[in-house]
Amino acid sequence: MSGATARAVAKAAAVIASVLLISGCSGSVSDRTFIGEMLPGRQVRARDGAIDLRGADLERGVPLDGEWEFYWQRRVDRTEIAAETVAPDALVKTPGPWHVNLVDVTGDTPLDVGRFGVATYRLRVRVDEDIGTLYLRIQGISTSYRVLAADRVVAVGGRLGSDRDSTFPRRGAQVVSFLPRDNEFDLIVHAANFHHARGGIVHPIEIADRDLYTRMLRGSLHRAWFFFGALLMMGAFHLLMFIVRPRDRPMLWFGFFSAVLSVRMLVAGEAPILRASTLIGWELITKLDYLTLYGGVPLFVMLAASLFSEEYIRPIGRFFIAVSLVLLAVTVFTPARVFTIPLYPYLLILGATLLFVLWISMSALREGRRGPAIFIAGTLALLLSVVNDALHHLSVIRSEYILDAGLLVFMLFYAGLIALRSADAYERIEHLLREKNHLQSLTNLDPLTGVSNRRHFDSVLANEFRRARREGDPISLVMVDIDGFKPYNDEYGHQRGDEALQKVVGAIETNAQRPLDLVTRYGGEEFAVILPSTNEGAARVVAERMRTTIESNDIPHALSPTGSRLTASLGVAGMVPNRHSSLEDLVRRADGALYRAKERGRNRVECATPAVLDRAAG
Ligand code: GH3
Ligand code: MG
Ligand code: MG
Repeated sequence: MSGATARAVAKAAAVIASVLLISGCSGSVSDRTFIGEMLPGRQVRARDGAIDLRGADLERGVPLDGEWEFYWQRRVDRTEIAAETVAPDALVKTPGPWHVNLVDVTGDTPLDVGRFGVATYRLRVRVDEDIGTLYLRIQGISTSYRVLAADRVVAVGGRLGSDRDSTFPRRGAQVVSFLPRDNEFDLIVHAANFHHARGGIVHPIEIADRDLYTRMLRGSLHRAWFFFGALLMMGAFHLLMFIVRPRDRPMLWFGFFSAVLSVRMLVAGEAPILRASTLIGWELITKLDYLTLYGGVPLFVMLAASLFSEEYIRPIGRFFIAVSLVLLAVTVFTPARVFTIPLYPYLLILGATLLFVLWISMSALREGRRGPAIFIAGTLALLLSVVNDALHHLSVIRSEYILDAGLLVFMLFYAGLIALRSADAYERIEHLLREKNHLQSLTNLDPLTGVSNRRHFDSVLANEFRRARREGDPISLVMVDIDGFKPYNDEYGHQRGDEALQKVVGAIETNAQRPLDLVTRYGGEEFAVILPSTNEGAARVVAERMRTTIESNDIPHALSPTGSRLTASLGVAGMVPNRHSSLEDLVRRADGALYRAKERGRNRVECATPAVLDRAAG
């Protein structure tokens, strides 16, 4: 069954991979007889610098994607456009960086559009009559801009300049509104870019006839805070776990991974928590954005390597890590206009890394290990969100960025994996403990009678004695010695002797039933009973019961010094130990009492403290 699962997962991964690879080549048919173009699902696209939004679903918002007019190195204003004294240099596909997205360049000399410069975008928009207030969601224009809608400036981002020094970049989305006076109006965007590898309208501008977007923007900010908190907690927890148990490598890598991505929530996305200010500049925020992106891959690879070390393919992993490290170094040491260049190739590396990790976790699955299935599910969620984001970014699909959610799903699956691993570890520990306890009990038991042996007696008595001293609790010891056992053996043989020993033990045990009472074979045919929380008087009563039970067992003993049945003599000693008393004292006094019991005729109980005997007797 795990083989079938692995095959299914492999198939899914292959589909995703091919989508990821072909997503770069979305073609478009060139037909310029229409103004605007209706796509299936009532999606509208700008054609030839115009978009027709009549009848479009403005309630749910429409992205103004498609061909905009493009004026290079010029800031064309509305009067020039209205007077038709200027002509566009080209059409440009938005969203996307201007230096690669030009289509249909007019004029004979090829237009040399670089990454850096200033430009004007223009889109003619036609809407239904009496449309009312319209709302724009400006997600990202690189890197500073001014947006004019229906002849009015509606949005400003950063400061538009004409070179690197006079331009101040800006990040983050904004939502603006305006009231068109006519059912046909111009959207004009002035943009300047001298700081980033990709200039122009790089993220979609969307339009709606109600304020959809303010709530979305606020939602993005809340989401960023939420994911920041969640990832930070995860990171901190796993790093602490690693500090406590440095052998647990996955904790380290996962902790770092989460921590790095939590920082990403501060600086990346539509509404980052940290915004460029005088305190923290645009360059630094952009640096953090790319560091946390480029840094994710090596940490993810190391995580997979530590989880599935058997299946990990070192050279491939090293390749991904090396590429990421180079990119990280470039990001640290160069300005944004350099380190932002490799983003698109890097997205392929990111996808390839995820496929690689999927591959090794699937090998682990084939090996029949328990965790990989969960890990694969999480990695697939991550891969899906990366593919979604890439396709969305390339305007192949209309979606939202969901990498943060994909990450969280991955983290949850990962938490499941950790839970499973800990459960396995605990189970192993419990098993070992049971085994250990079992072995220990074997070494503590007397094989013939099944009660504790002398070794165990020593350690239990020492513990109980200390506890009694600490708590001011009494403790008693009863010594039992069978009377005339040597002649019993001589008469009935060792076999019968052993059986008699077992019966005597049974008789002793029935009278020492409290949980902490311990019957032990002290040696040969001698037994010692530890009675915690019992004073000498009470112990004497217990000993007397033992004696009668042994006697009433009625084991024939023809040569008994006390009659015709097997009997035993018992010595009792008890005390409330203090600083001056010792455990040897207790044993010696119990021995002495036993000796007296033998001396005074056997088959009787003697106490170490004569008064106890007297009181009990009286
Ligand atoms: P007393 O009444 O003075 O205690 O006389 P006793 O014969 O019991 O004297 P002693 O304690 O010296 O005798 C111990 C005898 O117990 C020696 C041995 O034959 C017997 N014995 C000791 N261990 C075992 C055992 O494991 N199995 C058997 N069958 N007999 C044992
Ligand atoms: Mg004896
Ligand atoms: Mg003896």
